[in-house]
Amino acid sequence: MSPIETIAELFAGQGMQAYLGEPVSLAQHMLQAAAQAEQEGAPDTLIAAALLHDLGHVLPDGATGDHHAERGADWLAQWFPESVTMPVRLHVEAKRYLCATEPWYLASLSRASSQSLLVQGGVMTSREVNAFKGLPYSQQALAVRRWDEAAKNPAASPPPFDHFRPLLERVLSSSL
Ligand code: FE
Repeated sequence: MSPIETIAELFAGQGMQAYLGEPVSLAQHMLQAAAQAEQEGAPDTLIAAALLHDLGHVLPDGATGDHHAERGADWLAQWFPESVTMPVRLHVEAKRYLCATEPWYLASLSRASSQSLLVQGGVMTSREVNAFKGLPYSQQALAVRRWDEAAKNPAASPPPFDHFRPLLERVLSSSL
C-alpha cells in the first residue's frame, strides 16, 4: 500500500475521531492546520508537515503520549524529506520555544495544551531558546506550531483529506 493510502486510512480510523481534551477530532485538527498553511501560501512541504504533524498519536504500533512528535517524524521519514519530517519532529519543542519568547502565546494555549506543556519539559530556558534557533527547520517548526494551536476551532470546516492527496503526491515524487 502506498504511504498516502496508509495515511488516508489513519485519517479515517478510530484513533482520529477524538482529540483528548480538545473540542475537535484529531483528523479535523490536522486538516485545519493544513488548511491554514495552504491559505497563507506555504510551500507544499510545509503544508504536508502541518497536515501530518500529530500522526504520531495514532500510529498502529506502540503507545501514544508525549513522544508523538519524534514517533511521527521517524515514521514519516520512511518516505518524506526532512523539509516535512523536521517541522513535525520539532513542533513540540517549538511550543516550548514560543511559550518562552511570546508571553501571549503561552496565554493562548488551550487547557489541554498547557497541561501537556509541563510533561513536555515546560517553557524553554534562554539557553534552550538559543539552541533551538540554530536548528535546521526551526522556523518551519514555529510556523507549524502556530497553525497547530489555531487549529482547534469546532466551527471551522477545512477541506477533506482527499483535497491534500495531490499535494502529498507532489512532495513524495519530488523527494525520490
Ligand atoms: Fe497538533
